[in-house]
Amino acid sequence: MIKNNRDRILLMDRSKAGRKAFAFPSSDVPKQKLPDKQIIRTKISLPEVSQLEIIRYFTNLSRLNFSIDTNFYPLGSCTMKYNPKINDEIASFSGFQNIHPLQTTETAQGAIKLMRLLQEFLGEITGLKGVSLAPLAGAQGEYSGLLIARRFHSSKNNNHKNIAIIPDSAHGTNPASAAMAGLEVRTVKSDNNGNVDLTDLEKIIDEKIAVFMITIPSTLGLFEPNILKITEIVHKYGGLVYADGANLNALLGLIKLYDLGVDICHSNLHKTFSTPHGGGGPGSGPVMVIKELSEFLPSPVARIHKNFYELFTPENSIGKISSFHGSFGILVRAYSYIKSLGSQGLKNVSKNAIINANYLQSQLKKNYSLYSDRYCMHETVLSATKQKNKGVSGLDIAKRLLDYGIHAPTMYFPQIVDEALMIEPTESESKETMDNFIDVMKKIDLEINNNPEIVTTSPHSLPVKRLDEAKAARNPILTR
Ligand SMILES: *Cc1c(COP(=O)(O)O)cnc(C)c1O
Repeated sequence: MIKNNRDRILLMDRSKAGRKAFAFPSSDVPKQKLPDKQIIRTKISLPEVSQLEIIRYFTNLSRLNFSIDTNFYPLGSCTMKYNPKINDEIASFSGFQNIHPLQTTETAQGAIKLMRLLQEFLGEITGLKGVSLAPLAGAQGEYSGLLIARRFHSSKNNNHKNIAIIPDSAHGTNPASAAMAGLEVRTVKSDNNGNVDLTDLEKIIDEKIAVFMITIPSTLGLFEPNILKITEIVHKYGGLVYADGANLNALLGLIKLYDLGVDICHSNLHKTFSTPHGGGGPGSGPVMVIKELSEFLPSPVARIHKNFYELFTPENSIGKISSFHGSFGILVRAYSYIKSLGSQGLKNVSKNAIINANYLQSQLKKNYSLYSDRYCMHETVLSATKQKNKGVSGLDIAKRLLDYGIHAPTMYFPQIVDEALMIEPTESESKETMDNFIDVMKKIDLEINNNPEIVTTSPHSLPVKRLDEAKAARNPILTR
């Protein structure tokens, strides 16, 4: 738990003339003529501090970071799971780390082979055998997949197909990516159980459909029981089915997206396949397609030809989506993660992720409302409407969790759930950690009855209190 430290000051403020942290050894570089006097600064204020002081300064600064390595991080949809350190270690092998993207193919055989094998793994996991590892994030994978859909329809002279139908329970990036890819978005409603409303779908679908884009499992953490019916309807109208598989954490070894009638999907390696992420990066969102769409994949795709690994650009490729070969370090981590778990291990990941989420849901549904009282997949969406009626919002509850050393869940998403708290424990948390979370959530519910101010004014224990969120984004103070 981070201690409140009001006295934190800038390194510069600790400066005392003459204090030194480090003495450089004498230089072995021959003396050079100094540049023109006019451009040499004579007054430079550098902090003068002792070595112990600078170590404490940076160590304390690093402890202000919240991370999966320090605390429980049930941030729904983000899959903040334990990322085995061995994957980091392997990614930092000098052969991987010091490789240059402009190196000749002959000297990069191992790296290209790794890409080729990872493509095969992802093809096997999703059942969609055409794979490009180029996209650098989930949203970029979506964008690539949608460009592939457009390219496919125009190759058939079906340029009138420009509609993307997207359920209201989709991830927020879906309609944004569709708009960026030049598609017009039509929203299909969810029914009372959180499923796609089939009557509404039949009403809005027509020959203009280019793609039906569905998040699987949905952002409600639910599996769509009518998925086979839905993909059949979409195909009947000549549309392609896009599955947002950013979160494969509930599907590994249990369901192949191809078997559900999916034509295109992406997956976030930085969620399901082990890469420390958060705070904006790094990411990797490979795109997977049925064989018939492989010719449109973004460049490069790795292949083996006469015992030689090489990168190539598919025949009718949508082109380059990123510079060079994607986030190579993340590809190494994903490869090593999949390889070390094996097929049975991956299946266990998903089974445990599902059991953990359902355990939390079953223990918390008395105190917090559920949008839909069904078994969930890798995450559960609670609704704090009962608490809201007592004057305490989902946001207040999320802030109060920070005082107990727990990261806030995803809030107010999906938008179709009032006061949503989206909770994803992942497979890697112990029963003790989850029991502690359950206790804390119940304790906060009690506090709301007995002493609501302690919740509405939280957090109390962090270096920064409640922020004016609009101001914090526009006018951030980053130095204290
Ligand atoms: C995280 C996520 C995305 C977006 O992925 P980024 O890498 O942040 O672009 C898209 N869809 C779903 C379902 C997600 O969980």
